[in-house]
Amino acid sequence: MAVIVSMELRLVLAALVCGALVSGCGGGGGDGDGDANEAVIFATRALQEPRDVIDVGLFSTIAQVRSSERVECTLEGGFRTDCLQITLAPNPPDYLAATSGAPLCPVIGQFVRESGVFFYDAGAITVDLPRIGNLLLNLEGNIYNFLESSGFDIIDEDGNARIEDPANILDPDQTLFSFCVQGTPSDNAVTIRIPVRPLPLQTARTLTSNEFYGVHVDGIPMMGPVPSMTGGIDGTLPPAVAKPTPVDFCGGRIGAEGFYQLHLAPENTTPVFSTGCPARPNPGQALLTGYARDGYPVYGPLDSNGSAPEGLDECNGHTLSTNEFIEPIYHYHVRPADNSVVVAGGNSFLTGFSSCFKGDPVRASEALVVDN
Ligand SMILES: [Zn+2]
Repeated sequence: MAVIVSMELRLVLAALVCGALVSGCGGGGGDGDGDANEAVIFATRALQEPRDVIDVGLFSTIAQVRSSERVECTLEGGFRTDCLQITLAPNPPDYLAATSGAPLCPVIGQFVRESGVFFYDAGAITVDLPRIGNLLLNLEGNIYNFLESSGFDIIDEDGNARIEDPANILDPDQTLFSFCVQGTPSDNAVTIRIPVRPLPLQTARTLTSNEFYGVHVDGIPMMGPVPSMTGGIDGTLPPAVAKPTPVDFCGGRIGAEGFYQLHLAPENTTPVFSTGCPARPNPGQALLTGYARDGYPVYGPLDSNGSAPEGLDECNGHTLSTNEFIEPIYHYHVRPADNSVVVAGGNSFLTGFSSCFKGDPVRASEALVVDN
């Protein structure tokens, strides 16, 4: 019975949105009469932001935006609405320069201060290793030796650490060995679509591992939880072959499709790792971090009054005015990098952003497309 009621509500919602705000709604139905439309507009504005939220003019000066335009798009619930379509250069030089080209996965015995950091949740730490919260610094061969002794087959017969490009791991669930995952940058641009007006959901939608979450104002895709050593959110990998998937100290890495992506918020990694991402020099502010895939804005660790946000919901968001919005607006806050473990469905995972959407996100096939 509850399911039927819920579906009816969604149908009503769809009718309201299609009738009042959106052109070309699902390809069907004519316009209603004037009185009906007036009532629909009133009802819809209570459901959807009455103003455009995303503004590419608020992106930072280092964002490499090649183009942006307003286009029609489809949300997961089937609603057709307007999106801002933004095409980004794939690998921001300011971020890549921050690591001075240091490998995320050093070879055994190589000491690199700026090497990757990965989420270790596969058991007790039995040796003395640099550690921050639930993160390990991936500094040198000690890490690989520790993992090997803990049951991960990450050192090959020749004594070398197994390091692999995620583009070459064709069937991750079937891989026989553990690898340190290190991507290769490509020149392919990334096109993303964010709704200009968020549409709230009745029930929050949980993010999955590596899923596209939104866009950072530095012109970088933000992604869902970084995979953990026990196989990510769903825990599908057997422990012996689970892979360290390190991020740099800005919280980013190059994924299988060759573009740089953030898994932790640079606003929070900078103070934790005591080293700077050049684009976020003052992480303690209530800066606009970006926009989520559902259109809601994402902010740094503080509110505009300089205080830690209060009354955050399960998606790390709440409704309050911000520097950019005088009228109160729902917005997310980034999660602290040293305290980002969220437990869902019995599995822990690491997220630098939200673990769920409060609004209907753009459907996956339209939300992020890599040009080839
Ligand atoms: Zn806030």
